[in-house]
Amino acid sequence: MPGLEDQLRRPVRGMRDITPEQYYALKKVEDGLSKVAEAFGYRRIETPAVEHFEVLARKAGREIVDEIYYFRDKAGRELGLRFDMTVPVARVLSYRLDEPKPVRWYYFTKVWRYDEPQHGRYREFHQFGVELVGSDSPRADAEVLALMAKSLEAVGVRDYVIRLNDRAAMDRMLASLGVGGSREEILRALDKRGKVPDGEILEMLRRAGLDGATAEALMALISERRPGSEAPDFFSKYDRDLGERYGRIVKALDAYGVLGRFEVDLSIVRGLDYYTGLVFEAYAGEYRLAVGGGGRYDNLIELYSGVRTPALGFAIGVERLMEAAGITRAERPLDYYVYPVTEDAFKTAVEVAEALRDKGASVAVDLGELTLREALERAAKTGVAYFVIIGRKELEKGVVRIRDMRKRVELEVELDRVRGGLASPYAP
Ligand code: AMP
Repeated sequence: MPGLEDQLRRPVRGMRDITPEQYYALKKVEDGLSKVAEAFGYRRIETPAVEHFEVLARKAGREIVDEIYYFRDKAGRELGLRFDMTVPVARVLSYRLDEPKPVRWYYFTKVWRYDEPQHGRYREFHQFGVELVGSDSPRADAEVLALMAKSLEAVGVRDYVIRLNDRAAMDRMLASLGVGGSREEILRALDKRGKVPDGEILEMLRRAGLDGATAEALMALISERRPGSEAPDFFSKYDRDLGERYGRIVKALDAYGVLGRFEVDLSIVRGLDYYTGLVFEAYAGEYRLAVGGGGRYDNLIELYSGVRTPALGFAIGVERLMEAAGITRAERPLDYYVYPVTEDAFKTAVEVAEALRDKGASVAVDLGELTLREALERAAKTGVAYFVIIGRKELEKGVVRIRDMRKRVELEVELDRVRGGLASPYAP
């Protein structure tokens, strides 16, 4: 039989198989990130992969709508796969208006985007993120920023920077330049900075209605970068209240001990239209793409619930974070491999395996198709910690033979002790 054609052996374009060694790396990252969110008092939420298309489209800007996986089900409903978790969270809160505020929720789950696949850009990927809903305090901004910093640290990223900007400051800046064109289109063009050549951005700005000189002036203005601690002074140039707000944010970031990680960067505008205040993106080491991004969106929840509800959050792209942190695989070797040499020994082998499993060990029993030598070779290759041999001699003596695969030593342990469930043959 010829089997599957080549192209059918591979996952659908933009999708990836997650094999066990990759899965355990993902799980480690999931555990590390969840621990941080839980420690900050956030609680996990999960929602269906499939949403009403209309719900997704209501928030998505033009660019994102094209990226939605769209389909009709057999009953003719127009549906789509979620492209982030902010929309589902807003939808959930729209029927849970009594949820005590502020709401602190986090997620670690899959999202789908019909994007052009390339390095660091997939059609199915994981996002970890938080939503802090119902507060417009600057402390809320600082909490979410600090949480982003702590999340990166939790997975071992030491070298990172979080670049921030503010949409309100951008509005003032555009107004001061007398910009008349489409604000949305301009911000979307600026968001491409660093991702496409400057010439292309200038061209997009011109298409958005800016004359050449204004486009150049805008590009020069957004080149500015300052240490995070200068945010209050910097933003007060645009608006005194905004300066004061950043004064409080900076103070809170300092309290969290992460202020040094932040930089004001006017080229961070974020692609989506719904941000109203703080916007930010995280970069790790030499990794070129943003590992995460977020911001404040005080008008978004209202689109779904009809009630004005200030909110902010961030999302980290888990695959990108793992690549940036160099976490791609994690071994999960067996603790024990139990080998009954004879048919008689099988029952005892199962008994031993069950006792060890009860103690939390990960144990496989040989299926009777490998010779002892083959089984040992295989165990050495796959990284089994202990190989348990039960033959006629052992049965007669009431012992099992345990081989420490790493130290390459063997010892006999009484069957009763093993039945009692020893955690390690060397345990006292
Ligand atoms: P966004 O809100 O669109 O900036 O997405 C948040 C984070 O998700 C980004 O900073 C990326 O790390 C990650 N991300 C976005 N799109 C993709 C994609 N197509 N493939 C993998 N990761 C992505």
